[in-house]
Amino acid sequence: MKQKPETPDPQYNWTPGADAQTESEIDTFFHSPEIEKLKELMCDLGQRLWQRAFVDGNGGNLSIRVGDNLVLGTPTMISKGHMKTTDMCLVDMEGTQLAGTRARSSEVMTHIGIMKRQPQAKACIHAHPPTATGFAIAGIAPPRFLTPEGEVFVGEVGLAPFCRPGSAEMSDVVGRVGTDHPTVMMIHHGIITRAFHLEMAYWRMENLEAYCVSYLAARQALANQKEEIPQISGDDAEYLSSIYDWMTARR
Ligand SMILES: [Zn+2]
Repeated sequence: MKQKPETPDPQYNWTPGADAQTESEIDTFFHSPEIEKLKELMCDLGQRLWQRAFVDGNGGNLSIRVGDNLVLGTPTMISKGHMKTTDMCLVDMEGTQLAGTRARSSEVMTHIGIMKRQPQAKACIHAHPPTATGFAIAGIAPPRFLTPEGEVFVGEVGLAPFCRPGSAEMSDVVGRVGTDHPTVMMIHHGIITRAFHLEMAYWRMENLEAYCVSYLAARQALANQKEEIPQISGDDAEYLSSIYDWMTARR
């Protein structure tokens, strides 16, 4: 084998201090090949969210940070399963819309609330996966250390108190919880995940939903017995936590 196999790193990297500023710079940037590629990724992941019933109606939103002060996001009032690249919006970190023909989602401010506080948050996804949202309604995160996947990709789930959707308070409250937690349960609402890359944010959403379903199945399996649900412990638990630290610092 001539070429060394490697793991691709698909995160979007911008040049600090070089954001598009003028109207024509913003227009060129918004239609540049690299941004068009990210719009396609948002459409693709929107479809995957919808096909898995992680979003309902016009619910959920996706965003990618593309500059010091630039965020690409999905518009309001659209099914995430049926978006086109021409539907996407560009906003600044105060939420002012800079490009796109459809109005931005009010909830992009929640994503920005995390992005402003946590530079590792270069992409966010908000959705309502039914089982994980059930836990969010109950205000309880499932117990830790049930599967390696859950520990490595999800870790400790943050719990954000209920706020009115799209409010400044929600941006603030979820932003603070999301600073330390890549995956957040928004009580009485749904889930928000962050990562360096949109696909990883999507994986965290899938992993959390699967984890919640499996936890309920484990409870069911042990329903007629006295035992507690066993957890991964000791050296194995420490090992998984170290992989989580490695992962969240890079992905
Ligand atoms: Zn929502």
